[in-house]
Amino acid sequence: MKGIKTERGARFNTSKVKRLYHQGYRAEWESIPSFSLWLRPSNDGYSAQCQICDATVLARLASVKQHHNTRKHQESMKCNEFLSMVSIN
Ligand SMILES: [Zn+2]
Repeated sequence: MKGIKTERGARFNTSKVKRLYHQGYRAEWESIPSFSLWLRPSNDGYSAQCQICDATVLARLASVKQHHNTRKHQESMKCNEFLSMVSIN
């Protein structure tokens, strides 16, 4: 039996990996100091959540950063820091 190499087929299988356009949530973002206090994965795995604002953010680093910079979030962070200080004492 003449062995026909199936390289083309193999190449076809591996070359069509989904592009990583939809990254989804990354746990490593939680190790970024600016985000570690509030960033949590959402239930669907495609979005992130701010525990402090109770807001849902797209699971993209740009969106997470954007949320971090919103005034609402900054205010909430201040409030949260204050509350945690109170509860420690
Ligand atoms: Zn927030």
